[in-house]
Amino acid sequence: MSFSDLGLRAELLRAIEALGYDTPTPIQRQAIPAVIQGGDLLASAQTGTGKTAGFTLPMLQRLADGPRPQPRQVRSLVLTPTRELAAQVGESVSAYGRFLKLTSHVIFGGVGQQPQIDALRPGLDILIATPGRLLDLHQQGHVDLSKVEILVLDEADRMLDMGFIHDIRRVLKLLPQARQNLLFSATFSNEIQALADRLLNNPQLIEV
Ligand code: AMP
Repeated sequence: MSFSDLGLRAELLRAIEALGYDTPTPIQRQAIPAVIQGGDLLASAQTGTGKTAGFTLPMLQRLADGPRPQPRQVRSLVLTPTRELAAQVGESVSAYGRFLKLTSHVIFGGVGQQPQIDALRPGLDILIATPGRLLDLHQQGHVDLSKVEILVLDEADRMLDMGFIHDIRRVLKLLPQARQNLLFSATFSNEIQALADRLLNNPQLIEV
């Protein structure tokens, strides 16, 4: 099986080829068609399995045809536990999306807010964020999450371990009801299962 069998558009296939990827990994083979179809996903996957491309490629595909965001609006929100992971996902989005005209930005705490505020102002197709700084900027009126079409929780188990459950709940209240939800976690505790039950509608399950 090759990437072109997964239903990805030419711009994404070009980017994949430029990166030298030859064959989709098991999680990519399962996640890419499922996310393109628009359903929710519950995926158990460790780092190193290719999970980032597994959600980024079909997310870019779904966003490519839609209308551009209005000022301060966000079309796809990726939450990560750490700034390092946020930066890494941001780099993947840039690399896989280089032939598409989508906008993305990464925000996290511990650095100045002004460049992040400036990046949010025109609206973004994709926002990758850690929960605390996102809520801060939302409280100040710099970001509108009411039109989010796709939500990704990456490394959800680490987010819970780091005590982000209340922040996640606060973010969920800011999102519209109708949206696609993707949850990635390396481990499955009762807490993760409870979050999945609350968040996901009839999800496709993927284990690799
Ligand atoms: P991840 O598990 O998402 O952190 O990805 C692990 C690494 O594998 C990253 O450096 C990716 O660039 C790389 N990668 C992801 N998918 C593929 C693929 N299908 N073929 C080769 N390398 C890949």
